[in-house]
Formats: sequence, structure tokens, C-alpha cells
Amino acid sequence: MNEHAASNDAVGGRILIAVDGPAASGKGTIARSLADHFKLPHMDTGALYRAVALNLWRWGGDPKSEFEAVRACDDIGSNGDDPELRSEPVSKIASVISAYPMVRSALFERQRAFAAQPGGAVLDGRDIGTVIAPSADAKLFVTASAQVRAQRRVRELLERGMPARFAEVLLDLKARDERDTGRGAAPLARADDAALLDTSEMSVEQAVAQAVRLVEARLSERHPR
Ligand code: C5P
Repeated sequence: MNEHAASNDAVGGRILIAVDGPAASGKGTIARSLADHFKLPHMDTGALYRAVALNLWRWGGDPKSEFEAVRACDDIGSNGDDPELRSEPVSKIASVISAYPMVRSALFERQRAFAAQPGGAVLDGRDIGTVIAPSADAKLFVTASAQVRAQRRVRELLERGMPARFAEVLLDLKARDERDTGRGAAPLARADDAALLDTSEMSVEQAVAQAVRLVEARLSERHPR
């Protein structure tokens, strides 16, 4: 899990940044870069759902069972660096079990406590600006077209030596988008006060630079000097 503690002396005081968006939108890279820029600790909340999915997968548990998925929430600290966390079967199970309200509430407190650190934090996920940290100082909703996101995911899988076919990856991403946006519990949604960042036509460097600008603009609106 990409978490690190750091003191925040970038702006002075506490800064809480919420980054949400669909799979492969670039939100993880952007959130990590914002954390570096503002010297804040970062939590990739998708990694929590992936850790639950990995536990369930290893036990041979049934992703269709909310009760089995909740049992898999125990002891998720130990598989933080496992390369299987990013594998396709685990990604798919994560997207299924994250729809269960009992799984979401089992993981809620850990995320809320991370967001409540005295110096602030950056969290990325699907429901950070809407549920976990609705009073965040700056919220970004990062997105990109499904085609671009599928291309990125294919490249990432191939780089890791995993098999990947564009058509399958695209279908899988669309299915995940549907599950994430269509579920009743904390669906993927842009908070009313989140700035939209569409990275379809941007390089990583351009997307990060734009994210920093958007966050700085939000911070100066909220804390005028
Ligand atoms: O962001 P990532 O793709 O790693 O997230 C894995 C899965 O966890 C997603 O498909 C999503 O369904 C779920 N998730 C969630 N809420 C979050 C973060 C991730 O439901 N805050």
C-alpha cells in the first residue's frame, strides 16, 4: 500500500485532498504526485479493496457472498506488496466485493482516520470526495475516455509481463465502470464541488501539472491569503 507519513509544510496547516475517478484514469499517479508536491501522506484506497479481494481469492471464497467477502476484510495488512494485487482476477473480484455495504463499512474507519491526520492527507479512490472526506479542501475528479484508459491498462499489463488484449481489457473496464457507478453503496460519482480533470489528451507530466494548478486554485479560494 502506498502510504507514507510526512509533515506538511507546503502551505501551512492541514490540507486534505480527495482524488476520485474510474479505473486507469490516472488518478493514482496524480494522487501520488500531489502527495509529493504538497508533502502529504497518501492512501490508495483501491488497494484496501484489492487486499480484501486477494484474501478471498486465496481462500477460494465466493465473491457473490457478502458474508464471505466481509470475513476477508480481516487481516488485510499483510498482503500490501503482493504483485497479485494488480492481477486481472483480483481486480475483478475487488470491483464486485466493493459493492457490498458491509465491506465498505469494514474499511470505512481506516480511511476516515487516515483522512483525519493532523497535517492532512491525499486519498484516492471512488468515493473520497463524496463519502470518506466530503469536507476535503480540494477535490479532483480524474477521468479519461474508455479507449484511452484501456490502452493505458494494456500497456501497464504488458510491461508487467502479463497477457493483455485490447478488446478484452476495454470490455472489462466498461463492466467495471458500470459496477462502480451503478451500485447503491457509495457509487463512483463526481462530488458537486470536485474539479474535473480529463487526462485523455494529456501526458502524465501535463496531467500532474494541471492537477497541481487545480488544487492550488481550490486552496487559495478556500484560504485566501
Ligand atoms: O482504484 P482501483 O482500481 O485499484 O480499485 C479497485 C476496486 O476497488 C475498484 O474497481 C472499485 O470498485 C473499488 N474501490 C471502491 N472505492 C474506493 C476505491 C476502490 O469501491 N474508494
